[in-house]
Amino acid sequence: MPYLPDGAPLPQATPDDSPYWDAHARRELRIQCCADCGTFRHPPGPLCANCGSSRVNWTQVSGKGKIFSYTVAHYATHPALKQSVPYNVAVVMLEDAGDVRIVSNVVDASPDEMRIGMKVELFWDAVSEGGYLPRFRKA
Ligand SMILES: [Zn+2]
Repeated sequence: MPYLPDGAPLPQATPDDSPYWDAHARRELRIQCCADCGTFRHPPGPLCANCGSSRVNWTQVSGKGKIFSYTVAHYATHPALKQSVPYNVAVVMLEDAGDVRIVSNVVDASPDEMRIGMKVELFWDAVSEGGYLPRFRKA
């Protein structure tokens, strides 16, 4: 179920999110957590929306979570995705990162199996030489 077309580049890191992407190479899911008030945030950014602090820890999380929302794509937006439709795009609420939700795919669930609240767990999908993306499977 290839969601990343062959040869497609991984996202380019910025100073704010490079620890997030660097952790992927080690197959670690690390989420920004404010060093002053403990609020998790994602996508990565320079300041805490809760207290305004720029001090941050990159906390490793378990990758366990539940589907918060999802959609099923029936139209390939890129020719390389024609073999993959229909596929889901899921918003996963992580169980140990506050209100953080990440956008990914649940690779082993058919469109009819997808349910809001369904438990899922992270696995690392090798999408290129040394490149991994966080994806999910049914838990
Ligand atoms: Zn804060």
